Amino acid sequence: MRVARVALDVPLCTLFDYAMPEEYRLAPDSLVGRRVVVPFGRARSVGIVLESDVEAHVAERRIRAIGRVFDDEPPLPGDVLEVLRFASDYYHHPVGQVLLNALPQKLRRVPVRDGSRATKAAAADTAQRVTPPAESAAAAPEPQLTGAQQRAVHAVLSSRDTFAPFVLHGVTGGGKTEVYLQVVAELLRRGRQALVLVPEINLTPQLTERFRGRFPGVTLVTLHSHLAEGERMRAWRAAQDGVAAVVIGTRLAVFAPLPRLGAIVVDEEHDASYKQQEGLRYSARDLALLRAKLRGVPVVLGSATPSLESYANAMGGRYRLLELPSRPGARLPAVRCLDTRGQRLWHGLSGALLEALQARLERGEQSLLFVNRRGYAPVLMCLACAWTSPCTRCSARLVLHTSERRLRCHYCGHEEAVTRVCPTCGNQDLTPAGHGTQRLESALREALPAARVLRIDRDTTRRRDAFATMQARIRANEVDILVGTQMLAKGHDFPRLTLVGVVNADGALYTSDFRASERLYAQLTQVAGRAGRSELAGEVLIQSNFPTHPLYEAVCRQDYAAFATGALDERRQLGFPPYSHHALLRAEAARRERVDDYLARAAEAGAALRFPVEIYDPVPPLVARVGGRERGQLLVQSSSRNELQRFLSAWYPQLEGTATRSVRWSLDVDPLEV
Ligand code: ADP
Ligand code: ZN
Ligand code: ZN
Repeated sequence: MRVARVALDVPLCTLFDYAMPEEYRLAPDSLVGRRVVVPFGRARSVGIVLESDVEAHVAERRIRAIGRVFDDEPPLPGDVLEVLRFASDYYHHPVGQVLLNALPQKLRRVPVRDGSRATKAAAADTAQRVTPPAESAAAAPEPQLTGAQQRAVHAVLSSRDTFAPFVLHGVTGGGKTEVYLQVVAELLRRGRQALVLVPEINLTPQLTERFRGRFPGVTLVTLHSHLAEGERMRAWRAAQDGVAAVVIGTRLAVFAPLPRLGAIVVDEEHDASYKQQEGLRYSARDLALLRAKLRGVPVVLGSATPSLESYANAMGGRYRLLELPSRPGARLPAVRCLDTRGQRLWHGLSGALLEALQARLERGEQSLLFVNRRGYAPVLMCLACAWTSPCTRCSARLVLHTSERRLRCHYCGHEEAVTRVCPTCGNQDLTPAGHGTQRLESALREALPAARVLRIDRDTTRRRDAFATMQARIRANEVDILVGTQMLAKGHDFPRLTLVGVVNADGALYTSDFRASERLYAQLTQVAGRAGRSELAGEVLIQSNFPTHPLYEAVCRQDYAAFATGALDERRQLGFPPYSHHALLRAEAARRERVDDYLARAAEAGAALRFPVEIYDPVPPLVARVGGRERGQLLVQSSSRNELQRFLSAWYPQLEGTATRSVRWSLDVDPLEV
């Protein structure tokens, strides 16, 4: 019997057979990619047809009919289906969940009443409500491009309708966004759509504003997970109908249907946020490349600190490297290390850094103090017995938050009141150890009482729009010193900001994660790049006990190529990515033996498959217990991506087979943390 195979939102790596509706017998291909309602068990579900007019896998009497085809909306296009199917195969995640989760929620639900009228109403609604272009507004002027920018724009545009991957390596403030804008301008003249990916939601308003200013007559939509359901639906439809000429979005936007797609931009391509950390653990950057390939369009990976994967591809000639080596209207900041060895620090701040802050204050300029830890201090400590505020549910310390008078676990969210007495020895003299944003904030208020200090971290930006409000205050010059975490490092442009101070970065030099130095280099470069973006000169001061460490020296010289070349050499010698490929099996359970046992059996089963892959011993991750659950992981490495994939396909059923109900496991292909 000929059937249609339908993907459903269930945790099974399989499609389901349904009888095809009569009216599609003559044109079965037009059923592929369509949303349908089908009976499933005793309920009805929304599914997506992936194959049509194929021989049934199950007995005829068990085959039920498709209940309804949403034929008044376009089917999901071939490239989106292919990217999703690839993602399901490559990341080893159930195909139906991959497909259905890529849709806005509204499209995953069976409509309550008969849909056709409702869908039409929704379509009309889309046409009405999607960001209306302001025809009358004047476009923001285009600057005259520098030679380097012109070459970049020209290279991207001249690839026309062929797949062409580019790494746009531009120093911070080097004019990458301007390159995107002018590439998009030409695409719009050619009647094409542009997809621009950004790593996080906080960066969408700023970029959207710049695109709107430049293209006031054009429909632009944003797509990210904080949109209200209706908004997301409208934006998706506008992309799908070709109404939206520009789509700016976070990683999920890589799945948006775009009938007239002309190019894809992945801004800050090195950013870890492009990798989803749960469910389908996909890299939106990597899928963007696949999508561009399927559509035969250029893809631009932009960054001041390209990922070593992308940089190695550029060096190997697989991607084309485009460089923007200087800032068009400003100089790069001067970056220096402040040697803190043997120095008396005041709440973590050196005298030199405090003086530099004072000088900016007197000149009416802004400063940014960067520290990679929120809260007041990473631990509360007893100097008599060395007790250090442990979390009872995690193998981690509770962080001291003084403004709320709480001890908080940053892993499981557990909270307690701050104790005054050591619970083990009764000592009444507990000391905060280490420095977080709150501590620097209060130290600055004390040292520079005239300064208006603003702290920006996850704690102060929980409310919706809080971050946007803060940005407006910074732009309006209502703030002298910003104290913040990495939230402030990325992509923001504050013209009056001339000093960046970095506190406590040393820790990242000595962790076991082989990617730590790449992350630190990127983070320091990004945060340094916030200084001196306008005509005011910028300065960056990095406090360190290891001021001559090669990583800091490269950061100070702002020599990405030197850093990347050295780091890639090291990776090659050690056989780490990008010179090999990783998959990580993670497991967790209430009891340690369960985790260890599961991983040991998984390793054994893997070894028995006799593939040319290396299976490491199971180890606990850095934080082995979180929220009362024990965790473990098992790394698999191979020099061949294909061999690794073949291995994972063979291994996967065994991982399912040996799992018991008490163990939760997941597979992470190309993991960012191992
Ligand atoms: P990036 O995206 O690399 O950080 P931007 O495109 O935001 O860089 O450019 C940094 C600043 O320089 C912006 O204020 C931008 O308007 C300005 N700029 C970019 N290109 C030029 C140019 N060719 N001439 C003058 N100013 C420019
Ligand atoms: Zn004690
Ligand atoms: Zn905890």
